[in-house]
Order: sequence, then structure tokens, then C-alpha cells
Amino acid sequence: MRDLAPRLTQLKAQSLYRRRLTLDSPQDTHISVEGQPLISFCSNDYLGLANHPDVIQAFQQGVQKYGVGSGASHLVTGHSRAHDDLEEALAAFTGYPRALLFSSGYMANLAAQTTLAARHDVIYQDRLNHASLIDAAHLSKASLQRYAHLDSSALNNMLGEAKLSGNKNSLVVSDGVFSMDGDIAPVPELLNIASAHHSFLIIDDAHGIGVLGENGRGCLEHFNIHHTDDLILVGTLGKAFGTFGAFVAASDDVIETLIQKGRSYIYTTALPPAVACATLASLKLIQQDNERREKLAELIVYFKTCAEQIQLPLMPSNTAIQPLLMGDAEQALSISQSLRDQGFLVTAIRPPTVAEDTARLRITLSANHRHDDINALLEALSTLL
Ligand SMILES: *Cc1c(COP(=O)(O)O)cnc(C)c1O
Repeated sequence: MRDLAPRLTQLKAQSLYRRRLTLDSPQDTHISVEGQPLISFCSNDYLGLANHPDVIQAFQQGVQKYGVGSGASHLVTGHSRAHDDLEEALAAFTGYPRALLFSSGYMANLAAQTTLAARHDVIYQDRLNHASLIDAAHLSKASLQRYAHLDSSALNNMLGEAKLSGNKNSLVVSDGVFSMDGDIAPVPELLNIASAHHSFLIIDDAHGIGVLGENGRGCLEHFNIHHTDDLILVGTLGKAFGTFGAFVAASDDVIETLIQKGRSYIYTTALPPAVACATLASLKLIQQDNERREKLAELIVYFKTCAEQIQLPLMPSNTAIQPLLMGDAEQALSISQSLRDQGFLVTAIRPPTVAEDTARLRITLSANHRHDDINALLEALSTLL
């Protein structure tokens, strides 16, 4: 592992080298990157709450009350009233007995799988699950089996075979909305199959919570599914909520197990309390303000209709994630660069984030986009593709 330089050079040669952008502005649809104004189609701030005045104000009030850092982990002195209030509000919002805050979605996923599965168990995952879900399975030491994307009958077969060979403890895990594809998992089928095999189902609804369903309760509301003891929900707060952190919503026993055993819960500093205050304000907006969700839904339909008219390679998604399939990483990168030269920010997603030969431009829409922003992007794309 000392030969790092040639590996880096190789990444560049394969068009797989990643570079960071440095923003000089708040997160929004119109941003400034190293002095260049850009219309951004890359953020996960789907409802435009990251820079919302109510959320900013709640954050500032939180800082006045609690200071900046939480100073310790939740089990020492890091757990504040603000965290507690937010957990209660999230439980009520999702319709679960309890919710537990985590410092990030990545850590929530690590804790959920490592406490609910261990060596000799089997974790079943959709092939296109988010990297944090895959990493969590590896860390749990359970064996990981991946079923074909969205294929609940493949999952059913795998669980059936495992039962025949006497393998009992299993866990089924899926993204709710797939982060790089924008399609939605068949949650009702997954839940039926998992329950029939006495298995927990974990749904990571990072891209659905706040956005999907009439009241923004995410993919469970989208499918009209209510809490059951078998169904564990992971939600992240850095996307539609516009703040930071994550939560697990589950039964009392599952939450207590996470508190007692979840290493990525126990051995890390609690979120700053002010972030919990800001998130409470976003949650209020999510619950009270249907307009942002409706505006986003309208923009998604508008984007898809216009993109179809000019025959862009849309993928089967009805969510705010609207990828255009390029295939070739170099082509995706070069179109992304040309768009940037014209003032549009659209990231090229390349392997290993997505499978070989499925590089894509990942366009995400936000309630803060205007029709003019979309028109301008589509016009630029029509000359490039
Ligand atoms: C973004 C994301 C995460 C990670 O959440 P963070 O709070 O950013 O760590 C987990 N799962 C999915 C599906 C995601 O898209």
C-alpha cells in the first residue's frame, strides 16, 4: 500500500478521479463555486430547507441556549433536551413508538445492522443498496447475500432456500428510494416476505423521508404502510430536512438494543444540540407546508415531460432523483464538464458508486428550482447529447 501515486494516476487515466467543489455560498439551487455562479442540480436539499430562514433562526436560538458542541456522547453528557424533543417529534411524525438520533445516516446504518445481525446470520440486500448499508453488513460479520434490484421474488427464493438448509436468523435491508437510480423499493412485498421468515426489514429512506407521501412521511406513507415490530425505518436529516444527522424509528426493544449495543451510537459525540433545534424547525415545515412537496412533485413531472420530448435517456424514476444514463464514465464526465462551463452543476456518477458501464448524470430537483432553471438545463443538454 506504499505505491499510492501510481494508483492515483491510474484513477485519472480511467476518468475515475474525484475532485471536490468548494462552495462560497449557502446550499441552494443557485450557488457560487470558486467565484462561478452555477445552477445546481446535485444537492439532496429536496425541499430547500438547508438555507430556510426558520431553520436558520432555530439553529441560532439553539446555539444561544446550548452553545456549539455537545461535548460528549449521548450516554455520557452529550444528550440534551433538544435531542430528546426531536426524538419524540420524529417518533410521532413516523408513527413509531420511538426514534433514536444518530450523528449521521452512515452511523445509523452501521448500528442497526451490527446490533441485529452477527456471525452465522444472513443479511439480504438489494444489489443497488447504498454503500453504508453494504459496509454495515460487512462490519456485522453476518454473511451478505445480494438479490437482483427490486426483485422481491428473488429474495423470497433465497430466504426459502436458507430455510431448507436450516438457516434461521436473517435480516432484509433495502434503500427506500434508491440513491443513484431514484426508483422505489417494493416495500409491501419485502415486508411480507421478511415477516413470513421471521426476519426484520430495515428500510433506509434517506431520499424519501420528508418528500414522499402526502404528509412527507416517506416511502412507508407512499405505500400506506404503518409501523410494525418487524419494520425498522432509517431516516437521514441531511437531505430533505436540510440539516444533519439521522434517526432510526422502531419498537422500544429495538431502540433499547441500539442504545445498549450500537457501537456507532455509543462511541461517538452527540450531534450539536442546536442542530437538533434546527431539525425540529425543519420537521415543522415538513409537516405544515405541503406546498414545497407539491411544487417538487410538479417540477419532477415537468422535467420528465420536457426531457422525454427531446429524447433524453431518462431512467425509470418518478422521484426527485432523475439520472440520465450515459454508460461510459468518460462521456459522463465530459458532459458534466461542458454543462459546468455553461453554468450548470450536474455531477457525473461513476463506478464504483454505480456498476461498470452505467455511469450517469445524476440530476436532482429541489422545490426551490424554477421552470426557467429546468428549461435552461434541458436546452444545454439537448445540444450536448
Ligand atoms: C446519504 C445516504 C446515507 C448516509 O446518510 P448521511 O447522514 O449522509 O451519513 C445513508 N443511506 C442512504 C440511502 C443515503 O442516500
